[in-house]
Amino acid sequence: MIADIIENIQKGGTATVEDVHTLLSATGDDMEALFQAARDARDSRFGKDIFTYGFVYFSTYCKNNCTFCYYRRSNGQIDRYRKTVEEVVQLSGALQDAGINLADLTMGEDPRMYADDYKLLLETISSVRDDVGISIMASPGALPREMFPRIREAGADFYACYQETYNRGLFESLRLEQDFDARYGQKIWAREAGLLAEDGMMIGLGETRMDRADTILKMGATGAEQIRAMTFVPQEGTPMQDNTAWDSTEELKAIAIMRILFPDRLIPCSLDVEGIAGLKTRLYAGANVITSIVPPNKNLAGVAQHELDIENGNRSMENVFNMLEDLGYRRAKSSEYVRFLDSKRGV
Ligand code: SF4
Repeated sequence: MIADIIENIQKGGTATVEDVHTLLSATGDDMEALFQAARDARDSRFGKDIFTYGFVYFSTYCKNNCTFCYYRRSNGQIDRYRKTVEEVVQLSGALQDAGINLADLTMGEDPRMYADDYKLLLETISSVRDDVGISIMASPGALPREMFPRIREAGADFYACYQETYNRGLFESLRLEQDFDARYGQKIWAREAGLLAEDGMMIGLGETRMDRADTILKMGATGAEQIRAMTFVPQEGTPMQDNTAWDSTEELKAIAIMRILFPDRLIPCSLDVEGIAGLKTRLYAGANVITSIVPPNKNLAGVAQHELDIENGNRSMENVFNMLEDLGYRRAKSSEYVRFLDSKRGV
């Protein structure tokens, strides 16, 4: 049954939500066949080339109160920081010099960055464009529709905003006081403004397997050029801190299914869930981008794992590049990444 569904997709057939649900239930040899099909799909489209993204979490302040998030406004236990424009430029420059393909400029929904008509946010993006020239992903939270042309004009290539789940009821219980449709619109409005878009799902937040199947198909249907799945890690100081942590099996299956359904998309292997230990399994499931590479000794945090593998250097550029080579992959050059982005923008 699972083999039939995979074969149908490989031959260009469509998958129903029931098909995706069945694929998500794969175990044992069926699961291995799913991973193999995903690797084949990736290798025939991208070869052994893997793109690399650095993570610059430049403000950990946030006005929101998402129940799953360490940085929610009610979490009083944490030391927050906000990097200056100069610091963000310097960090992005170091990523560029190391051969990283893109700087992911991420922040919580920080009112200071939004003040004066988004002055500091736009200045941060345009300074990285002007002074560094690395490809840029902007991840600044949910913005009004009219902001997207301005984000593009400031120099961003990508806009990332994860829905986490397409189950509306679940969304409302997680992303408190936030609007499902406005968040969905972010992906659409970004693409209308000439940005590429990223959508993402989180696994282990209370969703059913059918919810996951539905979310995979709906993320694909947005047209987002990058789609991701990440396993929820319970965070101290949040209402979900005592939830049971899942292993990464469901995430790996979601990555593999996204790959066979949407073979030309960018699908990340995030180091933010299991640190460097999770690299091999995610590449094995069909990922073709490594995200959340974080240089050590820069006082930078991750999102899902705010400390894991950062200060010990395991998420550094050098370590990731060495591991890629050991696993038989090649890190793509930035010129190759820019060519890929241009092909997606129809340049
Ligand atoms: S998930 Fe994002 S928007 Fe929600 S509290 Fe965390 S940083 Fe803020």
